[in-house]
Amino acid sequence: MKMIIILCCAVLITCSSNKSKSGISNSEINMNSQQKTEAAKLAEQLEQKGISDQLVLKAIAAVPRHEFVDEEIRGAAYLDKPLPIEKGQTISQPYTVAYQSELLRIKPGDKVLEIGTGSGYQAAILCEMGAEVYSIERIEELYLSAKKTLNALGYFPNLFYGDGYEGLPENAPFDKILVTAAPVEIPQKLLYQLRIGGWMVVPLGGRGGQKMTIIKRTGKDAIEESEHGDFIFVPMKKGIEK
Ligand code: SAH
Repeated sequence: MKMIIILCCAVLITCSSNKSKSGISNSEINMNSQQKTEAAKLAEQLEQKGISDQLVLKAIAAVPRHEFVDEEIRGAAYLDKPLPIEKGQTISQPYTVAYQSELLRIKPGDKVLEIGTGSGYQAAILCEMGAEVYSIERIEELYLSAKKTLNALGYFPNLFYGDGYEGLPENAPFDKILVTAAPVEIPQKLLYQLRIGGWMVVPLGGRGGQKMTIIKRTGKDAIEESEHGDFIFVPMKKGIEK
């Protein structure tokens, strides 16, 4: 009898650790009750600002955003504000993260490529929504720290250090591509890494500001474009950096 109980416990422990490894959040452990309340309030605010995709709102309420910023600014982690991260980059405003995620219309199991891992927050949101996530970052230090943060929280997206303009031809095609830095023109190689019928959400434009754009690949060499408002992102730069 004792033996059976011990065996059952062992099985239960293995299942729960597998659960976090498969990408289901550990946020229970990483959010205290105040942070949980703040994250839930943030999701409510975003709903009031027009976000309606329940998968997005649930993910915003579940991901511990404070883990993706420096200790000194953790108090501001659940405000709807962009915050600085290392190397002069920013973790996008939660509204922008939610808006881009909504435009992607993620279905669990979608294969999604993100350009610009940054802090890893957006990648965590996509994991939380049930996507199969690939993400590229051109700054090595950010790639390394995002990987550490995400894995410590139980998120295991496929992370790459490289130039997002090249995409990931070996892992293509993707159902969706999300660009979180601003290119001046449509990154052509990325277009061809979308499956036909898939789409890219990308803030297009120069330093003065960008238009959020959806580019749908409707055929082998055919696309359809639509614009979805004005935003300001850091520029998408060519090449890699240490
Ligand atoms: N998605 C991020 C937002 C990061 S800001 C988050 O949730 O925190 C944009 C990021 O894009 C920066 O980290 C920047 O270094 C990166 N970036 C800019 N150009 C890039 C490129 N060509 N390839 C990959 N990453 C790029």
